[in-house]
Amino acid sequence: MCGNCVRVCSELQGNNILGLIGRGFETTVGAGFETKIDYSACVSCGNCVSVCPVGAIMPKSKEKFRRWEIEKVRTTCSYCGVGCQIDLLVKDDKVVGIDAADGPSNEGLLCVKGKFGFDFINHPDRLKKPLIRKKGELVESTWEEAYDLIASKIKETKKRHGVETIAGFASARCSNEENYLFQKLFRAGIGTNNVDHCARL
Ligand code: SF4
Ligand code: SF4
Repeated sequence: MCGNCVRVCSELQGNNILGLIGRGFETTVGAGFETKIDYSACVSCGNCVSVCPVGAIMPKSKEKFRRWEIEKVRTTCSYCGVGCQIDLLVKDDKVVGIDAADGPSNEGLLCVKGKFGFDFINHPDRLKKPLIRKKGELVESTWEEAYDLIASKIKETKKRHGVETIAGFASARCSNEENYLFQKLFRAGIGTNNVDHCARL
């Protein structure tokens, strides 16, 4: 009943989903007009979760960890150009959660992607080996073979058609640091400024 969640939602996030419902001892926190939050305009940003000091509001995806077991790694969310600062919560070399950090563009707030978009990292379906298309089929290969193929195709294209015919398209699923290296590779290594990012839309 501290009201932090109500205030962050209305005054900082600007969605006005949560309110104090009822009066006196019957008062609870809930979605306006006692509707179910699933049917409200909640955008699942999780900022109410972040500011709750007692764990009364928890993420559905909460992994089992204690705060003293984790190491925090500060980085920049790469899902869009706002550049929110985040702390990856790392336990046993795995990202198990994300905290909003107090960055100049986000001041402790995040959207749903920055707050919850990390479960792909340890997902069993994630591709961990490169695939090369051979006779129309994607075939698993080694990194050495894949890198050799990429390098030879880039060199061949550059020679035959010029460097301006080459473009690199980076991924929001890479870390900010990996995307930085990617643009360096294209600008300084390959020699083209044709580099873009899927989150720029
Ligand atoms: S998740 Fe975001 S929009 Fe939804 S109730 Fe919490 S602060 Fe408001
Ligand atoms: S948390 Fe949301 S708004 Fe912030 S950089 Fe990531 S995608 Fe953009």
